[in-house]
This record gives sequence, C-alpha cells and structure tokens, in this order.
Amino acid sequence: MTHSVPQCDPKANYLAHKEAIDAAVRAVLESGWYILGKEVTAFEAEFAAYVGVTHGVGVGSGTDALLLALRACAIGPGDGVITVSHTAVATVAAIEMAGATPILVDIDDERFTLDPALLEEAIRSWRGRGVDVKAVIPVHLYGHPAPMARIVEIARRHNLWVIEDCAQAHGAWIDGRRAGAWGDLAAFSFYPTKNLGALGDGGILVTGDDGLAARARQIRQYGWQQRYISEVPGINTRLDEVQAAILRVKLAALDAENERRRRIAARYDQELTVALLRLPTVHGNVTHVYHQYVVRSPERDSLAAHLRSQGIGTLVHYPQPVHCQPAYRDRIAVHGDLPHSEAAAAQVLSLPIFPEMTDADVDAVVSAVHAWVAQPADAAEQAA
Ligand SMILES: *Cc1c(COP(=O)(O)O)cnc(C)c1O
Repeated sequence: MTHSVPQCDPKANYLAHKEAIDAAVRAVLESGWYILGKEVTAFEAEFAAYVGVTHGVGVGSGTDALLLALRACAIGPGDGVITVSHTAVATVAAIEMAGATPILVDIDDERFTLDPALLEEAIRSWRGRGVDVKAVIPVHLYGHPAPMARIVEIARRHNLWVIEDCAQAHGAWIDGRRAGAWGDLAAFSFYPTKNLGALGDGGILVTGDDGLAARARQIRQYGWQQRYISEVPGINTRLDEVQAAILRVKLAALDAENERRRRIAARYDQELTVALLRLPTVHGNVTHVYHQYVVRSPERDSLAAHLRSQGIGTLVHYPQPVHCQPAYRDRIAVHGDLPHSEAAAAQVLSLPIFPEMTDADVDAVVSAVHAWVAQPADAAEQAA
C-alpha cells in the first residue's frame, strides 16, 4: 500500500478555511462592488501592518508588483537592474517589462540567494561599461531570506533602489524585521501555492515611502489621480475584491501555517541526514518560512523518479537558471560565470511541504527517501 503525498496542495488549504472563505466570497458577490473596494483597502492596510510598513498596493500578480515597483522608481529603458539567475523567471521578466536591462549575478551556495560580494562587483563593472545601474532585486528564494543588512548597506553606498522579491517569503523574519520591510519596496505574489495564496492570481507591493506608494497607486490604474484623467502613463493591474476577501481570511492563519511548515522541515532535517543528500541550512538571525524544502543531490533525477514511483510528488525549482533558458540565453547580461546557479539547477529537488501535511504524510516521504538510499546497496548485494 503506497501512501501518496502531493508536492503541494492548495485545495487542502482552501478546505482548511472553507467556511470563512465561502462566507467572505458570498459577501463580496452580494455587495455589487468587485474592483478596488473596501476589501482591497482593508487587506492592503492589514498586510502592510503585518510586514511592518505603512503602505500596501494590491495588484494582479507578483510579476506586476515587481513591475510596478520598478515603474514607481522611474526605472526604464537604459537602466540596469541587478538580480539573480536562480529564481522564478518572473523576477527577470518584470525587469524587461519595465524596459530595463537585467544583470544576473550568482547566488551564494548555502542560502540560494544573491551573493552580496558579487553585487558590489557587478555595480562597478556594469557602471564602468556605461550601464546606469539603478536597482537591485534580492529574491528570498524558497523562504530563506537574502542577507538584507549587507545588501542594503551596499545599495545605499552605490545609490541603488532595493526592491525585495518576497514571492516565496511571506512572514519570514530577518534580524527582527519582516522580509519586505528592508527594501525601498517589496513585491509579494499570492499565486495559489505561495505561503499566502489567493484562489486565483494576485499580488501586492509594499513600501514605507509615501511618494513611491502614491506613484505606484497611480500607475496601477492607468495613471489616474482623478478618474478618467491620466497624469502619467499607466497600466491596469488590480487585486480584485474577491481575492482580497479570501486573503484577509488566510492572512490571519499565515503565522501558524508557517510554523507548521517549520515543524515539517525540522522533521526532515532530523530524518533525512543520509548519504547523497544535502539538506537546506539556515543562516543568520532569520526565520525560514519553507515555501519549499529543497534538498540537493548529484542523483536528483533518480531520487525524483523513485519518489514518483512511491506516490510522492516533487518539483524542481528551477531546472534551468534564467540565463540558460531559450528566451534569454545569448542575449542576457550576466556578471561572470554563474557556477553556483548552474550547479543548483542540476541538483535541487523540492520535497512535499504544505501546512496541511499530516505527520503520516511526512513519515511516508521520509520512508520513501530512506528506501531510495538503501537501493544502491540492495543492487550491489544482488550483483554480488
Ligand atoms: C511566484 C513568483 C513570482 C511571480 O509571481 P506571480 O504572482 O506568479 O506573477 C515572482 N518571483 C518569485 C521568486 C516567485 O516565486
């Protein structure tokens, strides 16, 4: 009897909050007001307060939140934006949507996040070549925060905007402040599988700066200050009332759900110290929120195939660094070689982790990994 475990399960999270979500959705449907109303306004205030900043601007997706953050900083054609290649392609896509030039640097091999030493080198090198480097986007990948104190210090010294990509780090802490409270602005996604997920698309930009918030609000809706009168060229990217109402219900549970993710991770940490697997580690005074629990193995594909045969879902985040993907290779700016990004892409595997996973689910994953570890030995015995 196999005990199947999916890699993630957004439906289980809906069911965990079904009554409250259904009631919240019904109230919006019956209100007759569906775009930018009181649910969005309330959620923006609640989410900004949760992060510890003053403004939230609800938008249509995490990608749009990044785009709007760049546009609010007046970053566009001719400007350079430094980020990593080992990330969701959305980070890089948003920079190009703004018309700016992405410059990709390598990650630190332990955290999977932007290496601050390379940030400083890349700023000097690309400015030396005449690119007006204006911003850096650190990505708190998998829920482990990037080293923000150092990144912000370097950015201030070189006069760069800092835009945090928090799409995988809702609720993470760094030295007593939340991820998203360190940069000039931060972008969050509410894609259904994120730590805080809508039941559809959604995102938010947060900032402590009144001027940036006002510009972002304007650009979010056609550049309007006053209805139908565009003051600046804008776009349309709005969080809708239904999603905001759902997110208000789920935000109240986010800390407890992240705590459950940490408990699952702690069990994996304890049980999976086996040959051929490198487990994730936590660095600095931070809390990891385990959007993903990512192991590394030179035998990654064999492990994934074995787990699949046992009914255990896994995913690879991400199988190719952005600079190797067909849309970008041979044209995107990279700072030197990116050996850690390329090695990560070849070795990473995301095990199942979501708040509704039961202890029995965790046991099933652990046993299936142990069986895989035992396999080569069995094969050797049979051969002998
Ligand atoms: C999910 C994600 C995004 C994009 O969010 P969408 O809501 O899908 O547009 C951006 N960056 C990272 C790191 C992500 O994981």
